[in-house]
Amino acid sequence: MAVPSPIVAGNWKMNGLKQSFEQIDAVSSFLSSKTKPTCRVLICPPFTLLNQFASLASDDLAIGAQDCHFNASGAHTGDISADMIADTGATFVIVGHSERRADHGESNELVSGKAVAAQSAGLNAIICIGETEDERDAGDTLSIVIGQLEGSVPASANASNTVVAYEPVWGIGTGRTPTIGDVATVHAAIRSALIKRFGEQGSTVPILYGGSVKPSNADELMHVENVDGALVGGASLKATDFDGIIDAYRK
Ligand code: PEP
Repeated sequence: MAVPSPIVAGNWKMNGLKQSFEQIDAVSSFLSSKTKPTCRVLICPPFTLLNQFASLASDDLAIGAQDCHFNASGAHTGDISADMIADTGATFVIVGHSERRADHGESNELVSGKAVAAQSAGLNAIICIGETEDERDAGDTLSIVIGQLEGSVPASANASNTVVAYEPVWGIGTGRTPTIGDVATVHAAIRSALIKRFGEQGSTVPILYGGSVKPSNADELMHVENVDGALVGGASLKATDFDGIIDAYRK
């Protein structure tokens, strides 16, 4: 039976200038000089660096964007389409990150539209879901997460055009992570919901964990059942830290 192909993805958010090329260059060097990891490696820089970084894309290192518009082109000042992203040589795009849901009021429906646009452009859509601290404290984690999954993952999803990232909002950039047991419970629920909706395909859609992943906790988190990699924010900005997380897939 096919298994999900793990991914360690770095989300640089609104960080990085031209000089940051040295960090991705260092990630590339680690990948070519150290033991080949059993995961795919992806870096999602800001749009301003996408073209430059995509020139470094290789079989070992994929490049992705952090958002796209749901239309392929048109009068949308300041927006970037999935076709434009694909045109740079990038192969992934994050959609529905909790910071976009919060800062820009993005709904599940909008996120689903962006995922469809990404898939139509030949990109792999990383669809983010996750509960806030209040929702967790109210005991609503599973209903929120599965509701977001159902609303944000389009019917066109399959194992080669979609990745799901579970990111508890309260764990992003805070240094706090759920217990291993809680991560296992949420990922198992996501896996069941994917299989219920997509059958066999649902069993191979990668499910990433995101939220304060760092070299010191990556190994434990990446070995939880149904965790197929990580979406990493802060610790992806320095090549040595990011490589320390990739190490979880070098054993
Ligand atoms: C993220 O924003 O996707 C993220 C997981 O951030 P951090 O690793 O910094 O918590």
